[in-house]
Amino acid sequence: MSDDCIFCKIASGAIPAEKVFENEHVVAFNDINPKAPVHVLVVPKAHWESLNEIPADRLDDMGHVFDAVRRIAAKQGVADDGYRVVINTNRNAGQEVFHVHVHIMGGRPMGSMG
Ligand code: 5GP
Ligand code: ZN
Repeated sequence: MSDDCIFCKIASGAIPAEKVFENEHVVAFNDINPKAPVHVLVVPKAHWESLNEIPADRLDDMGHVFDAVRRIAAKQGVADDGYRVVINTNRNAGQEVFHVHVHIMGGRPMGSMG
């Protein structure tokens, strides 16, 4: 938990979000500025600033995140047609929120990675 982290605050319930999935390890909620008909963010409840910062012995957190990703994709009806999963890391990727998160985007063709 980081006091000034918006995703920690969403995870704890201190600020609201449209939560679509939660268990003891992760929470998932709709992106406030969706780029696709389905645009969900999945975060570990533990605060890691980016993928780079997760200690090797805590990578299980990302296993729980990807388990949630598959469940959410199925529940939101995009598993078969397909969806994109993105983890932005640091400046060149345009990371804006420094609490590691996975974007799930689907519901339309996502185009090439350009
Ligand atoms: P990043 O570029 O860091 O991978 O993406 C951060 C994402 O978080 C953006 O897509 C942005 O719309 C989303 N976001 C930022 N602040 C909030 C918030 O307070 N609530 C929700 N639900 N999404 C947020
Ligand atoms: Zn955090």
